[in-house]
Amino acid sequence: MQIAERPAWSISRESTEQPLRGNPQRRQHKHMSKQVSICVIGSGYVGLVASVCFAEVGHRVICVDNDETKVKTLCEGGVPIFERHLPELLAKHRGSGVTFTTDLGAAVEKSEVIFIAVGTPQGDTGAADLSYVEAVVSEIARSIDGYKVIVEKSTVPVYTNEWIRRVLNRYGVDPHSFDVVSNPEFLREGTAVMDFLHPDRIVVGANSERSAELLRSVYEPLTGGSYYAQPDALQGKCSASEPAKLLVTSAQSAEIIKHASNSFLALKISFINAVANLAETVDADIEDIATGMGMDSRIGPKFLSAGLGYGGSCFPKDVAAFQWVAQQQGVEFQLLEDIRKINETQREVFFNKVRAALWTLRGKRLAALGLAFKGDTDDIRESPAIEVIKMLLEADALVSAYDPAAMERAREVLPPSEKLSYAADIYEAAKDADAVLILTDWAEFSEIDLARLNQAAHFPIVIDGRNLYTPRVMLDHGFTYVSVGRPAAYQAQQGKPRKLGV
Ligand code: NAD
Repeated sequence: MQIAERPAWSISRESTEQPLRGNPQRRQHKHMSKQVSICVIGSGYVGLVASVCFAEVGHRVICVDNDETKVKTLCEGGVPIFERHLPELLAKHRGSGVTFTTDLGAAVEKSEVIFIAVGTPQGDTGAADLSYVEAVVSEIARSIDGYKVIVEKSTVPVYTNEWIRRVLNRYGVDPHSFDVVSNPEFLREGTAVMDFLHPDRIVVGANSERSAELLRSVYEPLTGGSYYAQPDALQGKCSASEPAKLLVTSAQSAEIIKHASNSFLALKISFINAVANLAETVDADIEDIATGMGMDSRIGPKFLSAGLGYGGSCFPKDVAAFQWVAQQQGVEFQLLEDIRKINETQREVFFNKVRAALWTLRGKRLAALGLAFKGDTDDIRESPAIEVIKMLLEADALVSAYDPAAMERAREVLPPSEKLSYAADIYEAAKDADAVLILTDWAEFSEIDLARLNQAAHFPIVIDGRNLYTPRVMLDHGFTYVSVGRPAAYQAQQGKPRKLGV
């Protein structure tokens, strides 16, 4: 198949092979569990979790990273990221089911299926920066010595599968010796291992039956249910009788499923935040509104939490990348821009709440509870908490920050200074604070000893960017409590927080 030299996003439909249509429920594939030799390139949140989970279901995995320090840590028994179940699974499979190396070529030679799980950060134009993917593909090209399936696990724009094919062709790799498959990853940081082993769905975008079949073998322990029947399996929502579902589509459809899914989830968050801002103006309660909306089975309750907005390494960049793809295709998709704008505004809305509650910020002592972009992770990439803290420091406030897992990473981008310190726990952060700010939805922050917090703080004011408490409870504990999309609850002697200039 010859492809003309033009941008990947303009490759015509005719230039691609026929997609393999099929719903797992309609197609009956009888598989015996087969051990597959797998190479995963990238040992980050996705690559490392995928590696140990593939080992957990019985495959032989080589995990490759070009970060020598990380590989050394992994070989020596360390766990470079905070993720539940990861330490146990690493201890169980390290050195047997999964090994770690920097030698990509040797790993490719020994593997039938090669998963690419390197970063695809946002570039200047909003498009995904695919240079890490390209670098990996050119290295793979040098080591292909027999039929291999190369799998895009990283989140990539539509037609990346075609670009990978082209790069391999340019390096002179025999087109019959490989297939490129899209197998987007839907795991969430914090619950990554369970999400991987008990997925809502597995999507395989394959343009050849041979490659689809090999990917079915990779996931067979989950889709056939044999993994869940094992006595030492991690038990979750899938089971031997209700195993994981696998959907086979064309590669392009699979690539779009990932971008569309993340953009849709981001839409839900931005939507509820816009409604929250409206609710505040009419003294309605966004929590009641979200409950009422979520009870409709067509809407569902998830991702309807008003607050500081979304962050992390996926939603912001994936919405931007999807927007870029639409622009390149000449498709009007203004909604994506609106999702992004609402999300960015939400941090300013919160910052203004802090100012409205405290009047001036210079020299004010503020406890910042949370640095990670969400609870249960140490990831601070695009974290709204970090952005809010930056705004507070800019306004010359004095911030004492605490996070159960993300302080080490936060120190790298926000080093301690005269204005910023890191505390050992919630109450140390709150000591003598003019207000306590809740910035991340850690479970620990929803179980605070409120009497102790009240004693520690200089003024009993809590400004909650994650709506972890009810205004009634906070009032009863003597706090003035400002949250998102709900009327502020204030102690009479402290006065009602006012919008500036009002
Ligand atoms: P990450 O930054 O945590 O990890 C990427 C890893 O790739 C790093 O360890 C890096 O050293 C390694 N790497 C880069 N270039 C390499 C090379 N040439 N050879 C070998 N290793 C190399 O990224 P992540 O969060 O795991 O995300 C990876 C991809 O998965 C991204 O496309 C992301 O959008 C997608 N994704 C992420 C999540 C998530 O929650 N983090 C969820 C679903 C999908």
